Amino acid sequence: MTSPWRATVLTLFPEMFPGPLGVSLAGKALAAGLWALEARDIRDSATDRHRSVDDTPAGGGPGMVLRADVLAAAIDAADIAADRAKDRPKRRPRLLMSPRGRPLTQSQIMELAAGPGPLIVCGRFEGVDQRVIAARGLEEVSIGDYVLSGGEIAAMALIDACVRLLPGVMGQPDSGSEESFSEGLLEYPQYTRPQEFEGQPIPEILLSGDHAKVAAWRLAEAEALTKARRPDLWAAKNSGQKPPKTTTKG
Ligand code: SAH
Repeated sequence: MTSPWRATVLTLFPEMFPGPLGVSLAGKALAAGLWALEARDIRDSATDRHRSVDDTPAGGGPGMVLRADVLAAAIDAADIAADRAKDRPKRRPRLLMSPRGRPLTQSQIMELAAGPGPLIVCGRFEGVDQRVIAARGLEEVSIGDYVLSGGEIAAMALIDACVRLLPGVMGQPDSGSEESFSEGLLEYPQYTRPQEFEGQPIPEILLSGDHAKVAAWRLAEAEALTKARRPDLWAAKNSGQKPPKTTTKG
């Protein structure tokens, strides 16, 4: 059997994992062995007796910066452990969660989910020493234009988005194919029982049983929503381009 999709997370707080990834869809799939999670403590790669992982920024300024040597050693240790277990994928994406990174998209998530699973470095403090990014070929990935206190929650968001796409994880194999972003559109509105909620009925067409009409209604709703809320996505769709495509470096 080939090894399952695996996320290796390098963090100063391995106890944060699996955290939310241990419940519901992702958690059940984890327990079932449909994917694997390895949280490794960056501090285990510290070399001095205080086990320090950070230092003050060169050139001055507030905060602390994760040391290049410690982080590089932590990445190498993860590779060595995988080699020892004969479990090291050939072209494994190496990501660094970072607000400066390329904004994460569903198309990049689909690529990551189709691969062997990434190694993900979680920053803390003011971030990481620039030199380790090039030296270990880290691709910087952002989950949005705001600043978190660490990369762990960002890594969890990325992993969660990948795991739900893995074979066998979602109930219906195609429940991912119609949702937001997959066709460059936001998803149409969803309804369920009761048929009337605080005076609002479910749109009649959805109860008609006419699949073609339902599909046409949903498409029109999805287009109207996308136009109104995300003119950027709408423009990309109509220029015939795919929404901003991202490549994953191996
Ligand atoms: N001084 C940095 C922010 C550091 S925040 C700057 O201004 O760019 C500390 C860590 O949190 C980062 O190293 C990164 O790993 C993580 N992080 C913060 N915001 C993030 C975001 N939007 N996406 C992904 N990771 C983020």
